[in-house]
Amino acid sequence: MILKALIIAAVIGFIYLKFFHKPSAQQMPGKKKKKESVVLDEETVECCSCSTFVSVDEAILSGSKYFCSQECLEKSC
Ligand SMILES: [Zn+2]
Repeated sequence: MILKALIIAAVIGFIYLKFFHKPSAQQMPGKKKKKESVVLDEETVECCSCSTFVSVDEAILSGSKYFCSQECLEKSC
């Protein structure tokens, strides 16, 4: 009788281990790199005339000075 109980216990234990206690075969290899948020990817420059910050792509470069628009470029500074 005790043997039967042990077998049942063993079977239950086996089932438990097999179905509810799966060893994680695919363990994450500690790849937790924080993605650095791209906050200022674009470089901004200050408009020489109105002091507005615009991206370099949008700014108008005149000599060594940046302007936000044609209007400011004409006004100069
Ligand atoms: Zn401007």
